[in-house]
Amino acid sequence: MSKLGQLFGSNVFNDAVMKESLPKATYKALKKTIEGGLPLDPAVADVVATAMKDWALEKGATHFTHWFQPMTGITAEKHDAFISPTDDGKAIMEFSGKELIKGEPDASSFPSGGLRATFEARGYTAWDCTSPAFVKDGSLCIPTAFCSYTGEALDKKIPLLSSMEALSKQALRVLKALGNTTSKKVITTVGPEQEYFIVDKKIYDQRKDLKFTGRTLFGAKPPKGQELDDHYFGSIKERISNYMKELDEELWKLGISAKSKHNEVAPAQHELAPIYTTTNIATDHNQLTMDTMKKVALRQGLVCLLHEKPFAGINGSGKHNNWSMGTDDGMNLLEPGKTPHDNRQFLVFLCSVIKAVDVYSDLLRVSAANPGNDHRLGANEAPPAIISIFLGEQLQDILEQIENGGATSSKSGGNMEIGVTTLPVLPKDATDRNRTSPFAFTGNKFEFRMCPSSASIAEPNITLNTIVAEILDEVASRLEKAKDVNAEVKAILAEYVSKHKRVVFNGNGYSDEWVVEAEKRGLPNLKTTVESIKALISEKNIAVMEKHGVLSRLEMESRYEIALENYIKTINIEALTMIEMAKREIMPAVIKSATGLAASINTIKATGVAVDLTAQTELLTEVSSLNGALKKAITVLEETVEKASNAHGDIYEQASLYRFDVFEKMATLREVVDTLETLVDKDVWPMPTYGELLFNI
Ligand code: ADP
Ligand code: MG
Repeated sequence: MSKLGQLFGSNVFNDAVMKESLPKATYKALKKTIEGGLPLDPAVADVVATAMKDWALEKGATHFTHWFQPMTGITAEKHDAFISPTDDGKAIMEFSGKELIKGEPDASSFPSGGLRATFEARGYTAWDCTSPAFVKDGSLCIPTAFCSYTGEALDKKIPLLSSMEALSKQALRVLKALGNTTSKKVITTVGPEQEYFIVDKKIYDQRKDLKFTGRTLFGAKPPKGQELDDHYFGSIKERISNYMKELDEELWKLGISAKSKHNEVAPAQHELAPIYTTTNIATDHNQLTMDTMKKVALRQGLVCLLHEKPFAGINGSGKHNNWSMGTDDGMNLLEPGKTPHDNRQFLVFLCSVIKAVDVYSDLLRVSAANPGNDHRLGANEAPPAIISIFLGEQLQDILEQIENGGATSSKSGGNMEIGVTTLPVLPKDATDRNRTSPFAFTGNKFEFRMCPSSASIAEPNITLNTIVAEILDEVASRLEKAKDVNAEVKAILAEYVSKHKRVVFNGNGYSDEWVVEAEKRGLPNLKTTVESIKALISEKNIAVMEKHGVLSRLEMESRYEIALENYIKTINIEALTMIEMAKREIMPAVIKSATGLAASINTIKATGVAVDLTAQTELLTEVSSLNGALKKAITVLEETVEKASNAHGDIYEQASLYRFDVFEKMATLREVVDTLETLVDKDVWPMPTYGELLFNI
């Protein structure tokens, strides 16, 4: 076998391993749960646990852990040794079905948004057998769901799995109504493209802001940024290439199909994309990918930054969530085929997505909101905060035909004329790409391009699955009742297109005209995380989540609180870090620089030589006056943080204070410091500059 063949999945308790290590009947029963969605038989769990343990021990594991995804957005693990002492002073290795299925990690300190009080701390983890177990750092990791004693979801996996079930159920109804008799399940698939920055660890270590907040809170613009476009897809430097190689290998061992890698637009920025897979597994894999990216970087004296905006003035990082729906018998429901105009099934699913995105755009928006992303969305490097759909010329034309009485033709791409006889003739794709759209149709899938680089992709996919399930439910109910299915399909398509075409926009999403146009169309423009969080408790959104059994009112309300709390804490940490750096590092450096200037002026004067001291004097005046502004900006920020952190009462109001008061004052302080950086002696400046951070590798 090739090296890659041997490596891939070698640390995963995957289907091949299960088939080999489990008795036939157990294997079959487990498969029925994994693929058929049937409940798990406890007797099966015991047999699986033993096989899993033996396999893990062979891989060098000593511990097992229930690996779960609390509301922090990252993963959690608590490790227990397999070891069990015997009377003769020795030990045997034990792992039971009970331990495989259920864990009680306590874990009372995770955010629960009031769903459980610390004194009733019981939280449970439950084995998710649809995502394979794996060995990582000497532990057998078992993907699990995390819930409270009363059954509420305390994680992102439970609602994700529920949303997948909801979508499958409704999509199957639609397929059946359209005459499909073979498909048994509809699976949503996801391929997340992950952007990240790599910086040198030695330089990183000298920046408190990066260490505490993941982003630089100060930093003057270096002479060179990304303006030459020379980093994008550029030749990969050896140190980065070595990093990427080790990363790929680690990911392949975990069965993660890391496929493409390249340099991104900003200096020091890169991207990794895996091959798409089932949403649930794709989400687990993306969490593992982020974790592995950080670990491998440290091994090589590097640091991987996953923050959405580590550096001002150059692009930040996002995550493109490529999403589609497919049947268990291999059909992609968003595949238009050669003649999409007469592909009834495709058009039904396409128009259902259009309606879902229009009706629930606020929910989609909040699914991509986090404090870091506020620096990107709408900042002409990432999609605007307005949700719209790009369909491209061919589909746009078909929608127009539908609205005008029915689609009868599909424009084809034809061939591309390159004009050099020795070069091959390339068939043209029916649609070009649009890089400015938040939700773009890209051939046979949608690419949700707003997602934050550091966040779990669970949220956007919970939302997509649920809102599309809702519209498919509506479609199915109409088709099931219809006497003439074809006529009803035509009526549904015409109605959806005419009512929801406002959300379709094929132009430049970065332009100012679009902001104006979108407002005319009545599309929401929720610019900040805080404003978008309200969507979590709107009646319409609670209703759709409850109806499909994805999240209850209580769970939505708790998520609303957690999101606001997280926002408040994040900005609070950023502000405090700024204050500390400004007071203890930057101001002393500025004073040192001013003292140096004054001393130089005095020394020169003392020589009695008639020298023109205008330059030093002017610089001293400028630095001193900025130092005054610095002191003032620090004091103002301190007062503002004090006021915001003491604003008890309504949590939304408090978060608003952080966004519209603290956050603004942080910008003022930064401006003063960044100007000072350009004036103060390089040798006294207390931290590495953007130039050193971005162009050092
Ligand atoms: P681009 O940068 O042009 O968007 P990439 O190749 O970097 O393209 O990423 C495309 C992503 O979309 C990959 O992760 C790919 O596996 C994924 N993808 C392809 N087909 C599907 C599908 N049917 N469902 C979900 N994701 C898909
Ligand atoms: Mg992409």
